[in-house]
Amino acid sequence: MATLDLEHIDKSFGSARVLHDIHLSVRDREFVVFVGPSGCGKSTLLRIIAGLEEATKGRIVIDGADVSDAHPLDRGISMVFQSYALYPHLSVFENIAFPLRVAKLPDPELRAKVEKAAGILQLTDKLKLKPGQLSGGQRQRVAIGRSIVREPRIFLFDEPLSNLDAALRGDMRVELSQLHKQLDATMVYVTHDQVEAMTMADRIVVLNGGRVEQFGAPMELYHHPATKFVAGFIGQPN
Ligand code: ADP
Ligand code: MG
Repeated sequence: MATLDLEHIDKSFGSARVLHDIHLSVRDREFVVFVGPSGCGKSTLLRIIAGLEEATKGRIVIDGADVSDAHPLDRGISMVFQSYALYPHLSVFENIAFPLRVAKLPDPELRAKVEKAAGILQLTDKLKLKPGQLSGGQRQRVAIGRSIVREPRIFLFDEPLSNLDAALRGDMRVELSQLHKQLDATMVYVTHDQVEAMTMADRIVVLNGGRVEQFGAPMELYHHPATKFVAGFIGQPN
């Protein structure tokens, strides 16, 4: 159970204002996609939600509680990045187990959680391999497995598929949608890819120049774009 409210979030780097009064709510178990061109502020916003970056103004509220000042590890959030950030010298098992080792979880519990995540992600027969022996899609699944074992309230994804080739990206879209249903989790997914947004989202946030252009269901944006930008952006998939 997790709702996420972004309340009047502003962010400036020096004199450059990159987020303008972002104010919206993500529902429990919703899959919301933030889509917009490169440089529009998507990663910055995710990093603020995760607690890796501080907002200049505004609040992050999870399940009704203000977490704006909470440590990243205390927010119940887990973030999956575009670069997989796996440890090349560790096995798949140990890569997935890493956050649980840090948390000093006893071995039997740790093993059970890693095996469960590996089952969900179809990595059961890969647990002894090293990341270098895996395909790009499998590596991305290991990174997701590392998120799952922490049992976060909210998953954040920052362009997790953009390093994959087109065919694999299609497969992974389907897998991530299935994962969303299976885990029954709230997910916030960032991409610059309109097709990804249209096919995966319950609702889409269109960002442009650090501002929300529109927030709504894919078909709502498609049929009733609020701005010229949305009409052009959603109407012209790459
Ligand atoms: P996106 O993920 O949508 O491509 P980003 O959130 O990475 O966009 O960046 C938004 C804007 O903020 C860009 O203009 C970028 O150059 C700027 N920016 C991001 N991080 C920093 C930083 N640490 N210092 C200064 N400017 C930054
Ligand atoms: Mg980015």
